[in-house]
Amino acid sequence: MDKLTNTSGKYAAAPLPFAYNALEPVIDAKTVELHYTFHHLPAVAAANKAEEALAKARESGDFSLVKHHEKELAFQLSSHILHTIYWTNLSGKGGEPTGDLAKAITAEFGSHDKFKAHIIAAATSVEAAGWGVLGYHPVTKKLMILQCENHHKLTAWGVQPLLLLDVFEHAYYLKYQNQRGEYLNNLFKIINWDNVTERFNAAQH
Ligand code: MN
Repeated sequence: MDKLTNTSGKYAAAPLPFAYNALEPVIDAKTVELHYTFHHLPAVAAANKAEEALAKARESGDFSLVKHHEKELAFQLSSHILHTIYWTNLSGKGGEPTGDLAKAITAEFGSHDKFKAHIIAAATSVEAAGWGVLGYHPVTKKLMILQCENHHKLTAWGVQPLLLLDVFEHAYYLKYQNQRGEYLNNLFKIINWDNVTERFNAAQH
C-alpha cells in the first residue's frame, strides 16, 4: 500500500496524493507545502545518507560513529514512514468509520466518541513533538492508541499504524499556533476512513 523506496532500493517519497490546498480550511496550503517539502522530503534524504554512512563504516571497519548513524536512521526513516501514512490518512470527509473497523473500535474503546476523545487527548499531550497513533497489533489482534515521541519512541514492537495524527508544530503552527487540541479536533473533519479501513483490513491478513 505504501511505497517507501524507488526501483534502486533507495528511500523515496511518493508525490503528495493531493494538491497543497486540498486540506483547506482545516490545514492551509502553505503548511502542507512546507510540511512536505521541508520536513518529509529531507527526512527521506537523511535516511538514505544514514544508510550510506553505515555502509561506509562496514567497508572501513570504523564504527566510531555507529550510534549516531543508527539513531539518524531510526529517526529519519520513521519520519518517512509515518508521513507517508499521514498524507493518505487525510483528505477524506471525516465522519465515522463503518464496518469491521467501526466494530473493532467500539469493542476496544467503547464507542467512536470515546475513541476520538482518547486519541485526541493522547496526541495533545505528547511531550514536545510526535504523533498520536491508532495501530493494530497482529499478534494480540487488538487496536491500540499510542503516543509516539519524535518519530520512533514509545512504539509497541510490531504494531501496524492505521491512523496518524502529526503533532509536530510544523503540522499546525502557522494556522493554530499553540492550539494543538483545536488542530486535532479539526483534523477529524478530514480523516479518510476508507484509507484507515483499508489499512485495518490489510493488517489482519
Ligand atoms: Mn510532520
